[in-house]
Amino acid sequence: MSLAWEPVIGLEVHAELLTEAKIFCGCSARFGAAPNENTCPVCLGLPGVLPVPNGKVVDFALRLGLATNSRIARTSRWARKNYFYPDLPKGYQISQYELPICEGGYVEIDVGDAVRRIGLVRIHMEEDTGKNIHDARADASLVDFNRSGVPLLEIVSAPELRSPEEAGAYLRALRTLLRYLEICDGNMEEGSFRCDANVSVRPAGSSELGVKVEVKNMNSFRAVERALAYEIARQIDALESGEPVVQETRLWDPEAERTRPMRRKEYAHDYRYFPDPDLPPLRVDDGWIDRVRADLPELPRTRRDRLVRQYGLPRYDAEVLTARKDLADFFEEAVREHPNPKAISNWTMGEVLRVVRERGLDRELVIRDWPVPPRSLARLVRLVDEGKISGKIAKQVFEKMLAGGGSPEEIVEAEGLVQVSDESELERAIREVLASHADKVEEYRAGKEKLFGFFVGQAMKRLGGKAHPGKLNELLRRALSAAPKGEERP
Ligand SMILES: [Zn+2]
Repeated sequence: MSLAWEPVIGLEVHAELLTEAKIFCGCSARFGAAPNENTCPVCLGLPGVLPVPNGKVVDFALRLGLATNSRIARTSRWARKNYFYPDLPKGYQISQYELPICEGGYVEIDVGDAVRRIGLVRIHMEEDTGKNIHDARADASLVDFNRSGVPLLEIVSAPELRSPEEAGAYLRALRTLLRYLEICDGNMEEGSFRCDANVSVRPAGSSELGVKVEVKNMNSFRAVERALAYEIARQIDALESGEPVVQETRLWDPEAERTRPMRRKEYAHDYRYFPDPDLPPLRVDDGWIDRVRADLPELPRTRRDRLVRQYGLPRYDAEVLTARKDLADFFEEAVREHPNPKAISNWTMGEVLRVVRERGLDRELVIRDWPVPPRSLARLVRLVDEGKISGKIAKQVFEKMLAGGGSPEEIVEAEGLVQVSDESELERAIREVLASHADKVEEYRAGKEKLFGFFVGQAMKRLGGKAHPGKLNELLRRALSAAPKGEERP
């Protein structure tokens, strides 16, 4: 990228909300039903029906508004956004326009060692539309209205992002926040977390905005970053060769790795927004806001900093553990049971997360079905700390716990895995090893010290991997440095 140009990026995110019911009717808002199963006259847009707002949607909007330090409008208004499309039988979408429920908050991201606040222009509520399915074999177009009326929050950032990486960091922070608040599952592939980007470039140092292009159709974080990088380069190329950038909407084509024009950009007045006559203004009083505020969880960045402070964890660990609320909960519950935070963090980030991913448990918003309960993990770590089992044996016990073998103590007992710390037993194994490898003992004593590991391995093998490693090392060293047999002084 040329240093002479500065990209300016703003993002519009649509987050599908995890309410039970749709926004203006009682139909289920759940994903995955058979086509048109979750529909009624209201969400099918039949004439003569009245929408009734779902209070839960307002709760969810307030949660995000408060978590992003937005101003909450005591009175906001529902508006009709008018356009024609087959998945929108009413001919309009109910949204919010000039009086949204939240304005002026921010999302914090890390840029290098600095923290940047990315401003939010607004957060508003709206209904999702249906979905067109074009069936080439049957030469038919089909419409599924299950999604029509599913509640959405539209979250519009200020044009304050300056690179594709910053845009990625912002999106990840926002998604983590939505998940912490348990209001959206953040699944980009299934479309419950969708993002459109507005991109322009301008001469570095200029305060004027260039002509912006909207980029759509990006369904992964990677796609967003690549689409933005492509689009920024394309606009710089155009400007440097004296061609104007046109205001338009472009689609990201992930196969070709380029954006291509879709349509010239509409303006807000193309939609003829006006207040919805079927819906009175939405009033939110202080009591409602206070109830929602009292229910907010500790937010991810605050929690990350607390984990570093309270448990002395490295920042990296705290980042990983607080990427999901349920993971941080798991960690803290285990530490309450056995206060060895670093060991428990290692196990959680390593073995536990590995199994969670293998089993696809992290596809759920909240993991309730942990491969092992936090208290069992804590007790496993305690067995290691008490010297009852080695770290290596602990891995075996963990595998047996996964297979439903019971508590760590039961497994250790039943399988005879208790660590051998008894000196005479360790010494016997060492004697046997040294006796059967007399040649290597001689080499070692002649200076080939790296053979030490070989002796450790052999003795471990003899003791079924259960030898206390510290004691074994100590006794082995002593045995090897003792005067060899036959050369004893009289
Ligand atoms: Zn309905």
